[in-house]
Amino acid sequence: MRIKDFRKQFEIIAPPAIAWKGDNVGLLVGRENDIIQNIVIALDLTMDVAKEADKKKANVIITHHPLLFHPLKAITESSRIGEIVLYLIEHKINLYAAHTNLDSVQWGVNFTLANVLGLKDVKVLSPLNDSLTSISVFIPREYVENVAEAMHSVGGGTFTKYDQCSFRGEGIGTFRGMNNANPFIGAIGKKEIVEEIRLEMLVEQWKLNAVVSAMLKAHPYEEVAYNIVPLKNRNSEYGLGAIGTLRVPMKQGPFLSLIKKKLGASAVRYSGKSKSIQRVAVCGGSGAELIDEAVAKQADAMITADLKYHTFQDFEQKILLVDAGHFETEHVVLPILAKKISQICKQHNHFGKIYITKHSTNPVHIF
Ligand SMILES: [Zn+2]
Repeated sequence: MRIKDFRKQFEIIAPPAIAWKGDNVGLLVGRENDIIQNIVIALDLTMDVAKEADKKKANVIITHHPLLFHPLKAITESSRIGEIVLYLIEHKINLYAAHTNLDSVQWGVNFTLANVLGLKDVKVLSPLNDSLTSISVFIPREYVENVAEAMHSVGGGTFTKYDQCSFRGEGIGTFRGMNNANPFIGAIGKKEIVEEIRLEMLVEQWKLNAVVSAMLKAHPYEEVAYNIVPLKNRNSEYGLGAIGTLRVPMKQGPFLSLIKKKLGASAVRYSGKSKSIQRVAVCGGSGAELIDEAVAKQADAMITADLKYHTFQDFEQKILLVDAGHFETEHVVLPILAKKISQICKQHNHFGKIYITKHSTNPVHIF
């Protein structure tokens, strides 16, 4: 399996288009045509992880945090990043990053964090904005199934819980072929009145080109009439954070102990008080921006990381706010990521090994 084959599959389940604007995801170092051998997975790329990959004959490293984020002016051994990039190039190791796209999918960082903590009925905390479009196309009745099938096959009207979603309304279409036209129905110069179906479906923006191409290919008309309308609907399939409920309400002390145990955190910082905790919001890594949304959705507690003193203070009366550590709230995704990558490899008959790094890449220590 080549890097580009892997990307094609992986980016269906973690589309780069849902990453934050300004994030840096995808292949950061390497060549699309390189054939994948073994793979090492880590939250961060450190020199230890790069050396581990070389030792394990892994020519691909997949990380959550992008090593290259801010523009580099030089790639030399005088900087930590420069030294690692040089090592990767010299040892022919490819680097791929899945960052906020991995945060925003329902199998990613936040849903995994929710599952590890035992939450049920988990939903996206902050659904993605401006990612949906509606496409309508006018089709002679007997061709509707063909066109709909073609559009569904590349992701039109396809969601996590439902697929083949569409709406169909009947109507009358009219047209007259002029000079040089080659009408599928009727003759040049004669007005045609045809029973047509208006087929509509929702399409995520990053699937739009594929869906339109498939639709045009399957449609019998020379000139196809269709509308594409961007929607303001929120897309609850994707987004940052997650919210769910504990099976039984917990008291604050046992709840904080549970977080420490499940995430392997030696300590957590918190503010606020809650007598009974059942509804819990989570956001792995820096999730301060989502606390308002957790409060609005009546969460009793929110678990995230990188919180400031004044943020604790601001929410003290509103929610039990827990900072469990950036690494601690994210590393739980690594086994799930390994599983997804392994499934893609198997589909491509690639049987190289997939390793989760043996190094803790957490730069923060608690004494
Ligand atoms: Zn992070």
